[in-house]
Amino acid sequence: MFDTLSDRLSGVFTNLRGKGRLSDADIDATAREIRIALLEADVALPVVRQFIARIKERAGGAEVSKALNPAQQVIKIVNEELVAILGGETRRLQYAKQPPTVIMLAGLQGAGKTTLAGKLARWLRDQGHTPLLVACDLQRPNAVNQLQVVGERAGVQTYAPEPGNGVGDPVRVARDSIDFARRAQHDMVVVDTAGRLGIDAEMMQQAADIRAAVDPQEVLFVVDAMVGQDAVNTAQAFQDGVGFTGVVLTKLDGDARGGAALSVREVTGQPIMFASNGEKLEDFDVFHPDRMASRILG
Ligand code: GDP
Repeated sequence: MFDTLSDRLSGVFTNLRGKGRLSDADIDATAREIRIALLEADVALPVVRQFIARIKERAGGAEVSKALNPAQQVIKIVNEELVAILGGETRRLQYAKQPPTVIMLAGLQGAGKTTLAGKLARWLRDQGHTPLLVACDLQRPNAVNQLQVVGERAGVQTYAPEPGNGVGDPVRVARDSIDFARRAQHDMVVVDTAGRLGIDAEMMQQAADIRAAVDPQEVLFVVDAMVGQDAVNTAQAFQDGVGFTGVVLTKLDGDARGGAALSVREVTGQPIMFASNGEKLEDFDVFHPDRMASRILG
């Protein structure tokens, strides 16, 4: 993951080794190389511009430390700025004052929502919670069944519409599931919603209606990291149409470039909260900006 970016950046730093002091020309050259590295990684242009401006400002400024040589100083600055664009602090889940805490998932079809629902439910279970999975993707013929299978694997209960009762009405299923969760003492509810292959007004409206019906503490926008910068456009459409409080990046195992990860926080203003990096239930973790930056810098 991020192989090209890591290689490129390490080349930039190697060029600085052995220099006693950085001239303006050195800083310009370094900034230019970092810019190319980020563009190659498919990072969104406004994010690249802002990143480079910060690097130039800091590397050219008075941040001179006697303990670090110029190469080390640039590495330190790049590291800190990477952590910043990845979101700074790790963002934890927000819980409801009165259970159940409701987490709604939104995103395009194929983004990995249903898989993620299972991973998240299992993770919550491992933390001592009693999550309920809710099947509100009533569009895709097999989606309900897929969520039930995932739920079984995760060892958690799945709420699905009974035949003849709420079939075809995901808003009603969502609303009913909260009452069910309360009665059955589930302290967390994870609502899976329908996606389409592309952005679609009807899907957005349905997701917005589900959001209004269940008033979730978190709306997680689930996005396939492999789509790179396209993730940013989709994120903006979901931000406008439904609104979300956090991002989940999926398929990081297949993402060699890193553009989505490095752009989505800055562009949407919402933190990346979880990362999914494989098809198995355990291929999932809380997203830590500092660890991700360290991985990029190798
Ligand atoms: P949904 O339409 O958003 O509910 O997406 P699904 O959960 O059905 O996932 C779509 C496909 O992506 C499935 O084949 C999943 O196995 C696969 N998938 C989901 N998450 C990951 C991941 O993190 N890594 C990889 N490699 N595949 C994933």
